[in-house]
Amino acid sequence: MFALRALSWNHSVDVFSQSVVFILGLAFGSFLNVCIYRMPRGLSVVRPRSACPHCGHLIGWRDNIPILSWILLGGHCRNCSQPIEVRYAVVELITGLLFLLCYRHSGLTLVTFKCAVFGFLLLGLIFTDAETHLLPDKLTLTGLTLGLGISLFVPVHDLASALIPAFFHPGVAPQVSNRLYSLLDALLGASVGASFLYGVGELYLRCRGIQGMGFGDVKLMAMIGSFLGLRLTVLTIFAASMAGSIFGLWTVLAVWIKRTQRRIRRCHEPGTTARKRAWASARVAFQRHQMPFGVFLGSMGLAALFFGHALLRWYWRSL
Ligand SMILES: [Zn+2]
Repeated sequence: MFALRALSWNHSVDVFSQSVVFILGLAFGSFLNVCIYRMPRGLSVVRPRSACPHCGHLIGWRDNIPILSWILLGGHCRNCSQPIEVRYAVVELITGLLFLLCYRHSGLTLVTFKCAVFGFLLLGLIFTDAETHLLPDKLTLTGLTLGLGISLFVPVHDLASALIPAFFHPGVAPQVSNRLYSLLDALLGASVGASFLYGVGELYLRCRGIQGMGFGDVKLMAMIGSFLGLRLTVLTIFAASMAGSIFGLWTVLAVWIKRTQRRIRRCHEPGTTARKRAWASARVAFQRHQMPFGVFLGSMGLAALFFGHALLRWYWRSL
């Protein structure tokens, strides 16, 4: 009986703490929305108070409750009835779920703090890049600094930590040397990730004569590397390139099919001619369109954080 009560009490505490973490995530998501809108425009994220982007009407507390306000207002401003982007509710929900996932995975620990910080910054960067094609330094460079700093307290567990102690003993206490190896792992991930992306960007510029990768992507990759270490950084770049290629191919095909149908319907062109011309214009449209690669790097960095090590273990076992 006593054991049953204790179990029920523990369950209640667990539900309560998970709810608190989720609500905290929603609140941080709400702040992240402010960052996503204001940072690329060079505005302060602290002042002035949140206002409708259409009519400038200041948003009261009852219209600023994460997710709930958006649903109750039917996705429209209370003052001018202009639509409020669904992104506001989506970012809040994803941040809430992210915080909850981190907490359920690692409890109330520094690992949870690291994952939540990393995920928070990545979500901000993904949505900023998708909307404005910009990756603000305030997020990437702050993230890089935090990633390096946190590596001193939460081990990165990568190549330096695994290999250096086998060959070299620095003659300091293990608590100190382990922190230094972890920092080295973070530095290695950041520098290799950033250098690789910079190299690819330069190569693309020299071969094609156009800039395929912005310096923001390089800084984003440095940030991701500082949190994940070398192995997951390589995995992130590989997965992001794959995802970007698939998305690019899918976009070209979708545009090609749409334009072919339009040419047949409106211009009454024969099928072969319509397909040929539509293919040429779809290729030109794709070359002009700049794909926000930060979206793919950020998404795959987030996926690598949660599933990367399991995926690498499965890969080595299956060899
Ligand atoms: Zn309004």
